[in-house]
Amino acid sequence: MSRLGEGLPLETGVPGVFLSPPGFERVIGLLRTGVAALAADEPFHRLVIPPVISRKTIERAGYVAAFPNLLGTVHGYGGTPSGWARLKPLVEEGGEWYAQQQIGDLVLLPAACYPVYATLADSALAEPAKVTVEASCFRQEATSEPGRLRSFRMLELVTVATEEHCLKWRAARLEQVEGWFQELGLDVSVEVADDPFFGPGRKLYQAAQRLQELKWELKVPVADGQVQAVASANYHKEHFGETFGITAGGELAHTSCVAFGLERLALALINRHGADSRQWPESVLAAFGGADA
Ligand code: 5GP
Ligand code: ZN
Repeated sequence: MSRLGEGLPLETGVPGVFLSPPGFERVIGLLRTGVAALAADEPFHRLVIPPVISRKTIERAGYVAAFPNLLGTVHGYGGTPSGWARLKPLVEEGGEWYAQQQIGDLVLLPAACYPVYATLADSALAEPAKVTVEASCFRQEATSEPGRLRSFRMLELVTVATEEHCLKWRAARLEQVEGWFQELGLDVSVEVADDPFFGPGRKLYQAAQRLQELKWELKVPVADGQVQAVASANYHKEHFGETFGITAGGELAHTSCVAFGLERLALALINRHGADSRQWPESVLAAFGGADA
């Protein structure tokens, strides 16, 4: 058992990719229960999302233009069997066997909420759409400090509706989540934030995002001396409504999401209360909605 571990994620030999042993998964389970309890006050549709998404959707959503460095593409061999016969020896030699790999119609999902907007494409909403999603996400991060993974799970509450609804909803959820993290004993700070846009327009986009307070992050210590955003509350204005042709109340739909990084949150809780969630204080366990560890 010692080799496979119990509480903390296991290294795999590549940065930012970890295996999750039972103790860590227990914490993830508690978090799922806790978020479900938070979300019980509204009727959410619950969707489980695969770790891939249509490349066209992600192009259309503006992700490729903004974060080309983070996107993981999916390639496959599209050549002939005789062509492969020439490439095959390169696998053992450590050569470029992948020289003829071609990009496919899928990419790795970079955030859990994109498929929701795409699914609602070309619809007219009479009522706010409310969806919870969980997905394995991938981002080709350049660094791998504690809490920064390339493959991680994201749990999101998403709403697609009018501007007024989305703004109020996000503000209320942000306050609720901050209170929940405090109940969990986490030393949380709530800060206006921006996304890591890539390229020359970066500073301008980030300044505009901050000025309009489109993104708030909830930051907590995940390791000694390491504070990370464990959740974000985002308002995208009519960006996805316009991109995907969604209307709400006769106008372009607006969207908001609250995203929880499950591994980061689990690391933060373990950092605060120890690796064995069965030993955590009763008050902390109760804050997950009374679920058992
Ligand atoms: P955002 O879309 O705001 O960048 O990400 C939403 C949430 O996903 C973050 O608040 C964070 O908890 C989680 N997340 C984002 N990037 C990473 C990462 O590199 N590693 C891990 N473990 N979680 C991440
Ligand atoms: Zn989102």
